[in-house]
Amino acid sequence: MRFELHCHSTCSDGTDAPARVAERVAASAVDVFALTDHDTCAGCEVAGGIRAVEVTCEYEGRTIHVLAYRRRDGWAAARAHGLAAPEPTDAWGLLEERLAAVRTARRNRIRVMAARLATRGVRLDVEPMIADAEASGRALGRPDLARAMVATGAATSREDAFSRHLYDHGPVDVPQRTLPLDEAVALGCAAGAAMSLAHPHLYDHRAISMLQRYRATGLGGVEAFHGAYDPAQRQRWIGVADRLGLACTGGTDWHGVSDAPSSPSSSSSSSSPSSSSSSSQPPQPSQPPTASPSSPVQPLLGVELPSPRAEALLRWLASPPS
Ligand SMILES: [Zn+2]
Ligand SMILES: [Zn+2]
Repeated sequence: MRFELHCHSTCSDGTDAPARVAERVAASAVDVFALTDHDTCAGCEVAGGIRAVEVTCEYEGRTIHVLAYRRRDGWAAARAHGLAAPEPTDAWGLLEERLAAVRTARRNRIRVMAARLATRGVRLDVEPMIADAEASGRALGRPDLARAMVATGAATSREDAFSRHLYDHGPVDVPQRTLPLDEAVALGCAAGAAMSLAHPHLYDHRAISMLQRYRATGLGGVEAFHGAYDPAQRQRWIGVADRLGLACTGGTDWHGVSDAPSSPSSSSSSSSPSSSSSSSQPPQPSQPPTASPSSPVQPLLGVELPSPRAEALLRWLASPPS
């Protein structure tokens, strides 16, 4: 069974609109799909599938990404594949409300940074971009300011904007508060979400300690079938999942075609955390191996899960939190 439970659209830092992502997913014969933009569900309605989000949080000074899936949609997916699953109650809205508050804080951060830029002779009218982000549910960050600077001629490129003004801990950068992992897990748990630790290899030994610590309180999955993993890496994380009694989730972490605007090294996406420390920024996982900007062949989305794991994943997505 083919799963695509980790991919991004233009609602965060992907290059494809949600409808285009859904088209690619359909063309890839994916059985179970969830759009997981950073900190927003704005594209989920259009994209279809399981309502989901990749939540940015912080643990021991590092940025951590947790995938959260609405169990009610997981129940529907399980039923569609002939599995019986109890219908859980739906308190998902709690999570989206909190993420909306985070986005509001980000919009205010943009205003503060714009004011700081003005003191350096760079005048930007950020209200249109803020209104647009508010309407679309998109998260805003320094890359949006960089784009505006390029558009107005205040910078020659995103890299130029970052190296002269927007760099980490610079005079313009405003640190933003990131959701602590325990708060995010508690919130997701209250919202009845199925939660999985995304791309665990980025957190090395911390991944295991986080999973051990938070599995009982709701972090019940690990992304063992990440699209960039080779068989040995998969096996490693499957072993961790089995040892700790976790579900194995899978997806490509698709961000779009690789000729997309590249992220400045100091801070990647508009919605990825521009955390207080650049070392705490997880690198963006690589493109799915089939992605090639010059190739007319459509990149294949989704990862194949062998039979008993696939059913176990469907049941986990559907089961009420314990
Ligand atoms: Zn991520
Ligand atoms: Zn991601």
